[in-house]
Amino acid sequence: MMDRETNGQLRELDRRLAQIYGAAYTDAVSRRAEAIERLTMFDRAYPPDTLTGLSQAQIDLYRNTFLRNIERETQLIDGMARDISLAGATAARLIQDTSFDVYRTGYRWSLGDVGRQARMSISWQVYDRNQLWAIYRNAPRSPFSQVALNKLGLSPDTARRIIEQRLQNELSQAVRYGESIAKINRRIRHVTGMSHRDAQRVARTEMLRVANQGRMLGFEQARDDFGIDMLKMWVHSRKKDARPHHVEMDGVTAELHESFTVGGEAMKYPLDPDASAANVINCGCGIVSVLKGFSFSKENMHGQPEVDKAHNIDYNKSINSGKLSPLVSFDDYLSAIRAFDEKLIGLTTSDGNKIKGYSKHFIERYFGSVSERRSGVDLHMITEALTTDKNPKISQKGHSARYITSGAEVSLNPKTGNLIQTNPHDRRKI
Ligand SMILES: [Zn+2]
Repeated sequence: MMDRETNGQLRELDRRLAQIYGAAYTDAVSRRAEAIERLTMFDRAYPPDTLTGLSQAQIDLYRNTFLRNIERETQLIDGMARDISLAGATAARLIQDTSFDVYRTGYRWSLGDVGRQARMSISWQVYDRNQLWAIYRNAPRSPFSQVALNKLGLSPDTARRIIEQRLQNELSQAVRYGESIAKINRRIRHVTGMSHRDAQRVARTEMLRVANQGRMLGFEQARDDFGIDMLKMWVHSRKKDARPHHVEMDGVTAELHESFTVGGEAMKYPLDPDASAANVINCGCGIVSVLKGFSFSKENMHGQPEVDKAHNIDYNKSINSGKLSPLVSFDDYLSAIRAFDEKLIGLTTSDGNKIKGYSKHFIERYFGSVSERRSGVDLHMITEALTTDKNPKISQKGHSARYITSGAEVSLNPKTGNLIQTNPHDRRKI
């Protein structure tokens, strides 16, 4: 069960694989139309009267010789196998290229997943693209995924041998039954279709594995760097032909460092590279987080990530408590969050602290409130305070650093990088 963005990436990959194999079929057939036509001419090479009195086995022998001669003169099978295995190599590389993007999406999604439950900003991811790439390259790989990629085309000889065998079988049948060009082309289409399905299967398995690996990385980071205590939960794919063991796993939770027991096998997460192929190939299951002490509903966990919905809950709470002016619309609220994410997250303060998030309280203070008689603060004043005050006032326990300029004061927890609150500096009441 994957999130919207991952599903989009999977669909896009499917679409490109279909293109690759569609083109391979068209090339294979159109480049060799004459040779394919010759396959239909057995009767011309061996008129029926020359075969009278021969047994079926003898006639089949003639048909095999006929196919071998065409192959020797035209390299029909050899050429088509080369085309199709080249397509496989392209497909295998595409799968490899896409997997980092899917990994990254899984990582980012996990932090959002935790953030939604913790009611914190989701923009606190710590690894940038390069750091993540370094981690991804060292992430465990499943041994059979490399084998699968080699069969697909990363190892050209292996791929060609498999495809040649398939073509040989199909074309022998075609000659044996004296089939038309249309029927022969359908057989070739069947062979490219088999390669296409191989590619789809490898792609699915690879993508969902790295998506879950990316998610696990985020969960572990939320635990290690932010001290957020959580369980991991197995979510079943709801596919029709799913493994019964995996259906039983739906909703089962475990500590992050523990393994699930799936059909008697220990697995850290769905598509665990250390698990057996039987428990992994074509699995569509996913991993999500469950914060300890937080309630969750099955409905939410199967739904799409709805960041805006979580923001909407915060917004309503703030309005109802009087801490946010009812004149602030939800759209205003959302655009403020987008502006914070863009302008504040990642910002480094004048004394070297990196901004990683902001509290609900901070958003309220940014807007101000009529009932609390507090005016709001301009975003550029906030940025200015954070980047120009070189000697912020640090609280006794070090949980708060207060940056002050003529326009605003802003408090930051230097230990977490979370913005706590802000005030207009002149404390002008409205
Ligand atoms: Zn599964």
